[in-house]
Amino acid sequence: MQAQLFSLPHCTLRVPRFLNNASPPNFATFQQPHHSSKLSFNVGLNHLFQKSIFLSQSVPGLMSSYDGYVGVVAQCGISNGESDVGDCDDGFYIRRCVQLARKAIGFTSPNPMVGCVIVKDGKIVGQGFHPKAGQPHAEVFALRDAGDLAENATAYVSLEPCNHFGKTPPCTEALIKAKVKKVVVGMVDPNPLVESKGLARLRDAGIEVVVGVEEELCKSLNEAFVHRMLTGKPLLTLRYSLSVNGNFLDLLGDEVTECGGYYSRLLQEYDAVILSSSLFSGNISIPSSQEPGANQPIRIVIHKDSSSSNEIPLAVNEVTDKVIVFTDNGTATAPELAKKGIETVILDQINLDVILDYCNQQGMCSVLLDLRGNSSEFEELVKEGIQKKNICKFVTEILPIWNRGSEIDPLIPVKRLDQGIQVENLKSKCSDQNVIIEGHFKF
Ligand SMILES: [Zn+2]
Repeated sequence: MQAQLFSLPHCTLRVPRFLNNASPPNFATFQQPHHSSKLSFNVGLNHLFQKSIFLSQSVPGLMSSYDGYVGVVAQCGISNGESDVGDCDDGFYIRRCVQLARKAIGFTSPNPMVGCVIVKDGKIVGQGFHPKAGQPHAEVFALRDAGDLAENATAYVSLEPCNHFGKTPPCTEALIKAKVKKVVVGMVDPNPLVESKGLARLRDAGIEVVVGVEEELCKSLNEAFVHRMLTGKPLLTLRYSLSVNGNFLDLLGDEVTECGGYYSRLLQEYDAVILSSSLFSGNISIPSSQEPGANQPIRIVIHKDSSSSNEIPLAVNEVTDKVIVFTDNGTATAPELAKKGIETVILDQINLDVILDYCNQQGMCSVLLDLRGNSSEFEELVKEGIQKKNICKFVTEILPIWNRGSEIDPLIPVKRLDQGIQVENLKSKCSDQNVIIEGHFKF
């Protein structure tokens, strides 16, 4: 594990730089472009998407973001098995870009997820997505996949191509060099380094540029990235469970932590999850996403001095390098954790500002605040998060339980606010016997 010096308002200590050595399950490994006389869908990455396309056709309509991909209804020239996608409109190809981009879910921070499709004469000749930070961008993979066929083709990209030298050369130059005729962009990049400069560069080079196709879908895909770019803070989401009569529950539903369950998918999607140290008192192993090849989130463990034990019984053998403890109990806790190789941040008072600042410095775009375990460790954090408008979203699981409401409720300070909070963009989903509701706070 590498370490870096990290200064916080209340202390100075060494914290890990979390390494992302994993790769998404469908890492963009390319076959040699196979440019036969009849272009087919079985070029490069295309074969990877046939299954999901058919799945999407059978389940039309919007799917929740934690379904693993955003709902895409494919309608053009696929149902009959033909490779020619014929008269598909720009929206079809941008939706396909989004579908490609989501293959790297959980891997790209601090970068966005991006997909790219190269289309020529109504046929897809190249596809690619950005697999993880430090790797080439989607356009590079798609152009490589298309080879010479990119000339005079149309490039579809879910996010504006970059025009600056970062870890990789600018994608605008790659598109110009490949002599594409037209570029269709889902949304403008909110990154101040990019912000329409990529579009201007393409237009200056004589390339036709169309912007804003399936814009809301593209913004939704990279909601966390956009939020961090605009606010300098990661997107913070509150997750909790309720009984059907509205009482707080320190529980998760059956099967939601298993592969395909909403909780497993949340852990795949988020860069970090904030957990109570008391959650591990029963020797429960650290929550992990069960999705195949998932990049596990950083587990931020909150341990308050008022907790029942000075010892944090973390079962951390397999994930020590992805755990960090924030505590106000430095003298008793830190040495024990250090022996286990767990990094610790000691604060006079645990607060969200410091945690979010830490996450931002680590390049994390999204953080999940998971309300389970010792509620007293969360009451102040939730209150602070709402008052400072740092909590942007919520995911509520309603379990098939009717209870007396004897559970301690960390939401009470928020429930007692003089003025309620408006919510918007509500979506719901049934999962076995549970109902999952997600939405945004409208501050
Ligand atoms: Zn780029």
